[in-house]
Amino acid sequence: MKNIAVDLVIIGGGPAGISAGIYAAMDNANYLLIESRNPCWFMESSINSHSFVDGFTGTEKSFSGTLLKKSFLDHYLRLGGKIFRAEVVSVFKDGKKFKLLTKNDSIVAKAVIIASGTKPRVIKIEGAEKFNNEIHFDCVVDGKNTLIKKS
Ligand SMILES: Cc1cc2nc3c(=O)[nH]c(=O)nc-3n(C[C@H](O)[C@H](O)[C@H](O)COP(=O)(O)OP(=O)(O)OC[C@H]3O[C@@H](n4cnc5c(N)ncnc54)[C@H](O)[C@@H]3O)c2cc1C
Repeated sequence: MKNIAVDLVIIGGGPAGISAGIYAAMDNANYLLIESRNPCWFMESSINSHSFVDGFTGTEKSFSGTLLKKSFLDHYLRLGGKIFRAEVVSVFKDGKKFKLLTKNDSIVAKAVIIASGTKPRVIKIEGAEKFNNEIHFDCVVDGKNTLIKKS
């Protein structure tokens, strides 16, 4: 088990974690951004599954989830940001500090930002899986007339 001590741990490399990481990197903070899979994989696949981004303020033209992921990551990497690939399996408070465990590491941090996202809840109705690409999980979604095109 490797022992690591940092000021800040960010759990999750999705849009929220990368945004936090951008500020940590700009600040030259002593931090770890921990991601168990590929950074922004969920955002990329959720956008690519049905449409493109058209509602982002300042957007000149529509773009895909893949391009958005690339621009988030390029921004973070340009500032010297790094990704620590591991899954955090536990977080607990130990006095004034936090202790985190991954399979191979024991990490002590002064602060933790949890940006681990969430999973869409599956509707428990027989046959619902046939409509996976039609079901809306949120009230506002990118892409012009997505609902109109599909109905
Ligand atoms: C079907 C669907 C369609 C969507 N379409 C759009 C759209 O068109 N436009 C739009 O703007 N948004 C869309 N969204 C929403 C968008 O995907 C989310 O708002 C965004 O991904 C949330 O970012 P996040 O960083 O909070 O979480 P996530 O993107 O979920 O990122 C969390 C990250 O944390 C990592 N992680 C989790 N637990 C651990 C752990 N224990 N250790 C290490 N790493 C961990 C995960 O691997 C993941 O990479 C859609 C969502 C869904 C479900």
